[in-house]
Amino acid sequence: MIRLKAGIFGCPLNKSLSPAIFKFLFLKFKMSGSYKRMPTDKAGISLSIAKALKNNWNGFNITLPCKEEITKKVHKLRGLALKIKTVNVVKIEREKIIGYNTDVFGFLASIKEHKLSVKNEVISLWGAGGAAKAVCWALGELGARAVLIHGRNKKRTEELSSVMKNFFPKTKFKSLKFTDKSFLDSKLLINATPLGMYHDREKKKLWNIPEIKKGAAFYDLAYGGKQTAFLKLGSMRKSKKVIDGKDMLIYQAIKSFEIWTGKKIENILRLKKEIKIFLEKEFSQC
Ligand code: NAP
Repeated sequence: MIRLKAGIFGCPLNKSLSPAIFKFLFLKFKMSGSYKRMPTDKAGISLSIAKALKNNWNGFNITLPCKEEITKKVHKLRGLALKIKTVNVVKIEREKIIGYNTDVFGFLASIKEHKLSVKNEVISLWGAGGAAKAVCWALGELGARAVLIHGRNKKRTEELSSVMKNFFPKTKFKSLKFTDKSFLDSKLLINATPLGMYHDREKKKLWNIPEIKKGAAFYDLAYGGKQTAFLKLGSMRKSKKVIDGKDMLIYQAIKSFEIWTGKKIENILRLKKEIKIFLEKEFSQC
């Protein structure tokens, strides 16, 4: 029987659905294992890695605010992480820390599932951290015409836009202030800041989005039991589709599972749907 010891680093983790996703995967594949929360800020990463090594973990996921910081601690980057330099999965191989990125896969798979066509379109994005980088990469790959990166930290948005321009010269990556309104032509509006994790009605004002293009969709990478403030705003603006981060989360988790176990999942969409139903049942009882 395969045994997997893994977990998640980051902060806050109390609402993370990853432990429940892995509970399902252990049951589904008749595995024994554990998936634990390890609350960690950037300064605590080395200590958390030492704990994971001591407890013989096979690997861990990394969420905010540690996705970029962890790249300084890994021994090696593999696959897309080599280029994108942001890591959301670590595999521990003979005491070596190997970094991977499965967020890009998760975002691409969710875009495909929701039939969102972004080729030659203008996309607005809020946030310039690890998740925003993965989104920019995916949008560049899909041939978006322009990605308008809104953020509160000019240095960070400019840096992200200049890195992405090098990889995807056909897509225009533009750095803007958080409250800039140059999104009126956007087909898709994406929140990749943790602001979406809060349901406070007042939070909707933060994005300063008085109107949107007809048929535009809203996508918040955050997820929660209730609709996030960003998605509430999308509903108020009569958005064509409002999507939360659950699908992306499940897709990236399936890829993490493949990396840690070496198993190849043949029908990822089917497994993703099974996990989503399991999560709905688990959390409807709360
Ligand atoms: P991160 O690396 O810490 O980046 C967060 C970004 O949000 C930064 O650009 C930060 O700005 C900005 N931000 C934070 N607080 C803000 C505020 N009060 N006002 C304006 N901007 C603010 O985090 P991340 O890993 O990219 O994660 C971002 C969000 O995406 C989180 O909600 C996370 O849960 C979600 N996510 C979901 C998935 C999924 O699978 N569904 C995957 C990845 C991430 P500064 O640069 O100024 O600090």
